[in-house]
Amino acid sequence: MIGITVLGSTGSIGVSTLDVVARHPERFRVVALTANRDAQGLAQQCRRVRPAYAVMADPQAAAQLRELLADMKGPPEVLSGAAALEQVAALPEVGVVMAAVVGAAGMLPTLAAARAGKRVLLANKEALVVAGALLMRAVADHGALLLPIDSEHNAIFQCLPPNYGEGLAAVGVERILLTASGGPFRDADPGTLAGVTPEQACAHPNWSMGRKISVDSATMMNKGLELIEACWLFGTSPERIQVVVHPQSVIHSLVQYVDGSVLAQLGNPDMRTPIAHALAWPQRMASGVMPLDLFAVARLDFQPPDLVRFPCLRLAYEAAAAGGTAPAVLNAANEVAVAAFLERRIGFTDIARVVGETLAARPSVAIGEGQGVELLLEVDREARAVADRQVQAQAV
Ligand code: NAD
Ligand code: MG
Repeated sequence: MIGITVLGSTGSIGVSTLDVVARHPERFRVVALTANRDAQGLAQQCRRVRPAYAVMADPQAAAQLRELLADMKGPPEVLSGAAALEQVAALPEVGVVMAAVVGAAGMLPTLAAARAGKRVLLANKEALVVAGALLMRAVADHGALLLPIDSEHNAIFQCLPPNYGEGLAAVGVERILLTASGGPFRDADPGTLAGVTPEQACAHPNWSMGRKISVDSATMMNKGLELIEACWLFGTSPERIQVVVHPQSVIHSLVQYVDGSVLAQLGNPDMRTPIAHALAWPQRMASGVMPLDLFAVARLDFQPPDLVRFPCLRLAYEAAAAGGTAPAVLNAANEVAVAAFLERRIGFTDIARVVGETLAARPSVAIGEGQGVELLLEVDREARAVADRQVQAQAV
């Protein structure tokens, strides 16, 4: 029996993870569940899954959760606060940690899981964008295993040979082809984008996801974050990665080799496939996902990305090239801007403006070998303050 901690269990990835795990009760046991503020949602999961620990990041929500579980026989130990997230990510009885918190808030518990040598299933791409060097070093130093859940990165991982850690050139890889759906506004008239509502931005054509990543998909910042994520995961630079817009989201990414071969991973757009893959790896197990029907799919289309229509993707390319603290600034500004857009304080096209101006105000600084998480937390805090001021200036 493998013990699992699910960080962010009430979210879209968290719910899909519990669905997959419930299909294999003989293999997995849920040890800890965590959420931010949704005490109702976590209480329901606790009654069904019966974990040993339940963590609410928010202390008031933890008090509410204790009340909601007062009549439960054998209730979980309810903990609260950011430190408790790190604690349940490093428990000795846990072998696998699903990192599915959204945003930089997931960085510290993900690092804790890596430092405890766990199998870390990484959905929380922002952790890698902010703290790539630190997280990859923690994985190497503590014998952890980092497996990508992001569908594109999971696909790339599946298309690479087992020894890709020797370097992509050494194993004959010419480039990585990172697919993108293009989101709901792929073909929209650019003149209409300023008036887009949160509801329209969150209505993704192919995937059902949390609100933050849905907006990121609509601006294509998601692909920018994924570009940076891919550089860390596969030890490569942005020049070796080509973004390919593929509206059907059936091919989840591809790897092109020097001999002309191109390997792709295909499947229905359902996150339970990469989740089951990473849980069972190097074996395979059922995920509950419908088999792909190629006759129903019938055609696959491809086009280059439009960096004028999607300035967030261009900004992410620039931050990736600048390196150092730039990706952390990009991510912090984007989190602030997306939250402001979802609260209707700024318009859709203001997101890129806030991110661009924050990056301009906080030029990249190199991160030294010995510099740790404190620097990144400070960069994140400062960039949020700058972005907040930009939001005030843009406010509608
Ligand atoms: P979501 O908003 O549906 O869920 C987020 C989870 O994190 C919730 O359980 C929430 O309670 C918790 N959380 C939020 N803020 C927190 C905080 N400050 N402290 C502690 N916990 C907090 O998000 P999601 O769509 O499931 O995405 C989760 C992560 O996975 C993101 O990084 C996203 O980019 C990535 N991802 C998601 C998908 C998808 O299909 N949803 C696909 C690829 C990657
Ligand atoms: Mg993805």
